Amino acid sequence: MRTSRIGVFHGPGQPIRLHEVTVPPLREGELLVRNEYTTLCRSDLNTFAGKRTEPTPTILGHEIVGRLEAFGPGAPRLDSRGATLAIGDRVTWAIYAASPNSTMARLGMPQKGPDRFKYGHERLTADHTLHGGLADYCVLRRHTPLVRLSGTVPLPALALVNCAIATVAGSLRLAGAIAGRTILVAGAGMLGVTACAMTRVAGAQRVVAADVTGERLAVATRFGADLSINLAESEGTLAERLAACLSDDPVSVALDYSGVPDTMEAILGALGVGGVAVFVGATFPQRALRVDAEQLVRRLLTVRGLHNYNERDLVTAVEFMERHHATFPFASLVHDQFGLHEVNEAFAHALASGAYRVGIRLG
Ligand SMILES: [Zn+2]
Repeated sequence: MRTSRIGVFHGPGQPIRLHEVTVPPLREGELLVRNEYTTLCRSDLNTFAGKRTEPTPTILGHEIVGRLEAFGPGAPRLDSRGATLAIGDRVTWAIYAASPNSTMARLGMPQKGPDRFKYGHERLTADHTLHGGLADYCVLRRHTPLVRLSGTVPLPALALVNCAIATVAGSLRLAGAIAGRTILVAGAGMLGVTACAMTRVAGAQRVVAADVTGERLAVATRFGADLSINLAESEGTLAERLAACLSDDPVSVALDYSGVPDTMEAILGALGVGGVAVFVGATFPQRALRVDAEQLVRRLLTVRGLHNYNERDLVTAVEFMERHHATFPFASLVHDQFGLHEVNEAFAHALASGAYRVGIRLG
């Protein structure tokens, strides 16, 4: 009989408490993974700090990597790339489990399907105790896209794949053509610096990073940005500053990971004719944007929103990390590591330091 430690979150202002539970027998289509490494995503920190709400009690942590430990009856034997799965394989998996047959899934949006289940976001019940990254084990439900991983990529970099990297892959899918174009990346946190690297690899002509922090812009430069604009410096509007540094080559694609209304409005003002804006960062309540509809029409602009990602994006993210983890120092963005027994210290450190990511070692 296996047992698992679980770090249970009861609500903001309360410490995460460690409990030990029995690993339940696997049901139809389920897989058991022994978690190896989890990174604390910004949404984990926001939930912990009370800036967003999740049903409690719950196990936080969804940027997870682990090893296959057991197959349940009828569990998949092939991963999302068609590779054969075996006990001991290192894997990552989608943030969600969702039927591939729903209307939403057929439209490429399984993460919004009616039966969607999100790892690291669900209430603990007597039947379901292992569905987060702050635990020794995770039970993967039926219809969870998963990918077998190569053994050469550092664990902290792999842990980033199934939230940050896959979300950026989704935003690039929505943006359309990147090669030969000028890209604006607003917000140089984990997603923004990833977007700099991914658009660079995709052949962008120029990548411009915008943020309010010089240190983050310096990191964006290491991850492929050619130009940076510090939004904290008041030297004109974003559109004016872009025009000054880009001369007559306007922004074709703007990716917003900041979620800041002023910045999103500025982005719409800065896009060239036919430009595409993808908004990703606005995942919390905020004021409505002021949009000039006439400009939207006359400049043929497209605005799209993205929340989470689909199976194709997860595979794109894995392949990006496998190919480019040595070029772009993703593992270095996971600043510190803690054990599960130090999980409260890990959250406190992540919130106080503003680090891109803090890691939790498991197993
Ligand atoms: Zn996340």
